[in-house]
Amino acid sequence: MIVVKSQAEIERMRVPCRMVAEFHQKMREVVKPGVTTQELNELAEQYCKQHRAVPAFKGYGGFPFAICSSPNEAVVHGFANEMPLVEGDILSIDFGVLFDGFYGDAAVTLPVGTVSAEKQRLMEVTEYSLYSGLDQIRPGARLSNVSAAVQQVAEDAGFSVVREFVGHGIGRELHEDPQIPNYGKPGNGPILKKGMVVAIEPMINAGTRHVKVLADGWTAVTRDGRPSAHFEHTVAVTEDGYEVLTCV
Ligand code: MG
Repeated sequence: MIVVKSQAEIERMRVPCRMVAEFHQKMREVVKPGVTTQELNELAEQYCKQHRAVPAFKGYGGFPFAICSSPNEAVVHGFANEMPLVEGDILSIDFGVLFDGFYGDAAVTLPVGTVSAEKQRLMEVTEYSLYSGLDQIRPGARLSNVSAAVQQVAEDAGFSVVREFVGHGIGRELHEDPQIPNYGKPGNGPILKKGMVVAIEPMINAGTRHVKVLADGWTAVTRDGRPSAHFEHTVAVTEDGYEVLTCV
């Protein structure tokens, strides 16, 4: 069942969404060679404490960290660790918080120092695919128009779309209906309505789309070892389009 939010509920969702965006903003300054993902996770824990928010992922299905930190060939759900990031890495950071009964959720992929042209293009195309998907959002549109637009951008660039993980509705639950794949034909699925709130999150691979999960039971990596990028925003369907809630 898709929960349509009232304007008052969307106003409340702005707060956790803004927190997530503000944290990602900090990460742009902090992520550099020598920093560990354990340190970034610690910053996320501190941020939540300071803002009296609850880290949404920690404990979710047993996930042990406040952030998902997924470098290079890691697609999503990576574990924080003590290994310093090195120049040329890319790092996907997914972060969600619960505040005042509502969730916010967003992800970015950041360069560590200077990265290869391929990694740079992968990040740019993935972020562009997210916005191309978002631009399909308006009342009356079919949900799969979003999926199709993401897929088109990714595949036109010669990249591939991860199929095992999807975007989702969000609100009083971190993951609400509907599920939102990043591929598919347009014209299918639920009809979007004003007040729906969704997290759109393309995961795009430089090589083939196939992934595997590591022995930790969480970290998804590309099977071919080539890099992957992930961008996500929580957005509300408005009268005539959409509004990104995960912005500062
Ligand atoms: Mg999400």
